[in-house]
Amino acid sequence: MNELAQKDLKYIWHPCSQMKDYETLLPIVIDHGEGIYLYDTDGKRYVDVISSWWCNLLGHCNPKINEAIKNQIDKLEHVIFANFTHKPAVELCEKLSKILPEGLCKFNFTDNGSSAIEAAMKVSFQYHTQTGNPQKTRFMALTDAYHGETIGALSVGDCDLYTKLYKPILMDIIRIKGPDCFRCPYGKTRENCNCECFEHAEEQFKKYGEETCAMLVEPLLQGSAGMKIYPPLYLKKLRQICNKYNVHLLADEIATGFGRTGKMFAFDHAGVAPDIMCLSKGLTGGYMPCAMFVTTQKIYDAFYADYLEGKAFMHSHTYSGNPMACAAANAVLDIFSDGSVLKNAQENAVYFNNIIKEKFLPHKNVGEVRSIGLINAIELVKDKQNKEAFDGKLRTGYQIYKKALPKGVILRPLGDVIYFNPPLIIDRKAMDFVTDVALECLKEVLPE
Ligand SMILES: *Cc1c(COP(=O)(O)O)cnc(C)c1O
Repeated sequence: MNELAQKDLKYIWHPCSQMKDYETLLPIVIDHGEGIYLYDTDGKRYVDVISSWWCNLLGHCNPKINEAIKNQIDKLEHVIFANFTHKPAVELCEKLSKILPEGLCKFNFTDNGSSAIEAAMKVSFQYHTQTGNPQKTRFMALTDAYHGETIGALSVGDCDLYTKLYKPILMDIIRIKGPDCFRCPYGKTRENCNCECFEHAEEQFKKYGEETCAMLVEPLLQGSAGMKIYPPLYLKKLRQICNKYNVHLLADEIATGFGRTGKMFAFDHAGVAPDIMCLSKGLTGGYMPCAMFVTTQKIYDAFYADYLEGKAFMHSHTYSGNPMACAAANAVLDIFSDGSVLKNAQENAVYFNNIIKEKFLPHKNVGEVRSIGLINAIELVKDKQNKEAFDGKLRTGYQIYKKALPKGVILRPLGDVIYFNPPLIIDRKAMDFVTDVALECLKEVLPE
């Protein structure tokens, strides 16, 4: 019995866990990481196919990122970011401004994704108040959305697992029935649709557009909802309708940014730009807590005035703009800069998706294989014909997760959706391995 794991349970309340489950599955004590691999204290190797909660982009202990942080730590570890600045932060924003969708040029730092969302919501509200629209006090978001777990961010989200219990203390959000491409009520497919489901957005904008500050959206990929994927056309339509009703389009690219969808940002697929974009997770390659919202000159200008007008954005987090986090983020962007990481990932994405379709689609309980970039999701169903889901109480996904661990793969499904969201540097041999293991475990839990 691992002594550290025992001691862990004496002290630590783990995130997003029923602690009683740890009675039968002790926390795995990770000793070190290298590339796509994690090693526990017994030397057992795991493929980190979920990128350590979707944040690791370029492998664990990446030598270049390690070096950047080591260099920074001997110069400056942290400084107050009001009235002070430092080179890593300035460099980072300059680099990002060159690759972000057009018009996004003003950077506000926070230290985690949920806080970036909350700050962005506040800034949107304040903008409208300061530009003569104080009636704009509400927010819109899609069904099945996920935007984080602090109270404001949780409010705009709509995944029952996280929100349901807290409904009595959450904000009243205008909910738009979002795309559901696997079970499309219009009988269309992602490839042949005209986003007929956008009629729900049109209805809600018509009713509530006047009182709305911002529409939040996870572009193309609703991650926590089970890696639901929808076409870029939906974002184009959102852009148009937001313009019509003077509503900010607020892109949550926390999970999709930095190459996850095959392009640098998911919005790049749509050829339109949001008014506000939130970034975190991959921003530092998964090294340091760091987040930001980025916005336009137009929004920024609505706050720019003499002090006594009281228009400043009075929002802060102690660790905003942390120099070591910025140094890590700069190293990440340097690694991306010659284009080879993204190009490799795009090529490997085709291979990955092909082998996953080949291996999993024939199984009687695989309802759909969907993919964007290197992200691939396998939705398990009880009945392939009518797409009926399993009873959640069976915890089918969790059974598969437990089988895969001793075989050296970290799968951690979302409900009954098994997914792969590996670091962008994963190679084909590892893709073969993780898909073989996942299929083996699937067949053990759901024999044909
Ligand atoms: C992870 C995530 C968040 C929240 O970020 P935290 O750093 O965990 O607070 C928000 N939105 C999306 C889409 C995410 O995936």
